[in-house]
Amino acid sequence: MEKNIKCRRCDDIFGEKPDHIRVPRMLKCGDSICQVCLKKLIKETNELYFLCPICNTKIKKKQNIDKYTINKLIIDTVKSFFNITINEMNNDGKERATKYSIVSLGNYGVGKTSLLERLIDDRFSEIHSSTIGFDLKFYNVKFRNKEYKLTFRDTAGQEKYRSIAETILNLADGVLFIYDVTDRESFNDLEYWYNFYKNKKGIVVGLLIGNKCDYESERVIDYNEAKTFADQHELDYLETSAKLDQNLKKAVIIILRNIIESKERYNTIKSSTTFSSVDSMSTKLTKKQLKKRKCAC
Ligand code: GDP
Repeated sequence: MEKNIKCRRCDDIFGEKPDHIRVPRMLKCGDSICQVCLKKLIKETNELYFLCPICNTKIKKKQNIDKYTINKLIIDTVKSFFNITINEMNNDGKERATKYSIVSLGNYGVGKTSLLERLIDDRFSEIHSSTIGFDLKFYNVKFRNKEYKLTFRDTAGQEKYRSIAETILNLADGVLFIYDVTDRESFNDLEYWYNFYKNKKGIVVGLLIGNKCDYESERVIDYNEAKTFADQHELDYLETSAKLDQNLKKAVIIILRNIIESKERYNTIKSSTTFSSVDSMSTKLTKKQLKKRKCAC
């Protein structure tokens, strides 16, 4: 699915027109509009401030308005989505859903967009249009009696967008490695995607997905070959079909479970490290006290 970053006032795509480039500007309130709209807003009023056209916040005309490159704008948009506070409370006192971010990696055309469209919007399109940069989708799910809000980021598989993918990886809690069971190259490239993620994150909390399993007659990668790859890389493996809506919800539960378990492991390690450092401190204190006692003697 084609996704472009647009000015939220005039709806023009940033950087699209060669003679009239829409340079993105980030206002102090956090909303982004293009430079042309910003100039218009400033001119339209004689006051010392103008109103943000999106949230109506008063913005001083002289206040620094950051010049944004498209990449920086994307990064900031991502960051704002990641203002995560785990187990926050709502106004009504109920525990807020825990938020996790999941990124999809894999070659162009394996079905990354289609899987998310089927899962979240329950639709499927035979037409393939490339994702530009990345796409964001939200999915709420209940697991072990708790609410989770998952943010799925569908990255573009093309080489030129890999710098964007790298930024998104930094924010990811888990990863879906997706290949197409009818395309050997997409399977061979999994090693690349795995290392790409591992080099950035260190730990891989992920799930391997073999998509287009409805295309049985065209299949070139059998289940066992993919399962061997998954085992070697300590990943779970699942075959899906975005077209027939097969195994998508199961995939969500598996990746969510893996994320939760990895966070629990991390917390256990963290708390045991804290305890051991407290222990060593108390040992040091005891030694000091002993020394003092000796001196007193
Ligand atoms: P992306 O580049 O990885 O995001 O790939 P897309 O989601 O755009 O899908 C590429 C093409 O594969 C499109 O023509 C889709 O209709 C098709 N496709 C995606 N998933 C499936 C599937 O599960 N089964 C079949 N038969 N086709 C699929």
